[in-house]
Amino acid sequence: MALAGFVCSTRHRDSRRSHKAPMSPARHYASTHPIPDRAMTQNDTLFGKILRREIPATIVYEDDEVLGFKDIAPQAPVHVLFIPKHVLIPTMDDLLPEQAALVGKLVLAAAEYARREGFAQEGYRVVINCREHAGQTVFHLHLHLLAGAPLGHFGVPGR
Ligand code: 5GP
Repeated sequence: MALAGFVCSTRHRDSRRSHKAPMSPARHYASTHPIPDRAMTQNDTLFGKILRREIPATIVYEDDEVLGFKDIAPQAPVHVLFIPKHVLIPTMDDLLPEQAALVGKLVLAAAEYARREGFAQEGYRVVINCREHAGQTVFHLHLHLLAGAPLGHFGVPGR
């Protein structure tokens, strides 16, 4: 699969944010160079390897910009992860205003999958974990789609 346009995007790329700490040369290089099609790099992730079909995953959805695959450790009867195919955004906090449409595409992909699989009427939940307190473990923006049973409450443990 061609991933020539797969680039790393972080908020630090935006030179208008000059109040931020200066970017290291290594980070600058990584943020301006496409990720190679092979081999894990410092800006690659597990999900990058799934995108390139270098490690197996059960892919259940794909369009021009979004890939959806089953979570390896499902937290509900249906647990699918949706990721952008062409840009590596580590966390939700790294999203740029011009990437708003991309987030919409992740959400719409999940909604389309729910309709296609026949559980949209029963309902579902989408989640984006951001960093430590949310328990983010893979630093490649992804949207969780959870469904298939009543999901209970969420938030602070114990509530
Ligand atoms: P996070 O905790 O970062 O929001 O979500 C990462 C998700 O990726 C977790 O739900 C975890 O189970 C899933 N995951 C981790 N490694 C793999 C893998 O190799 N394959 C798949 N399909 N999912 C994975």
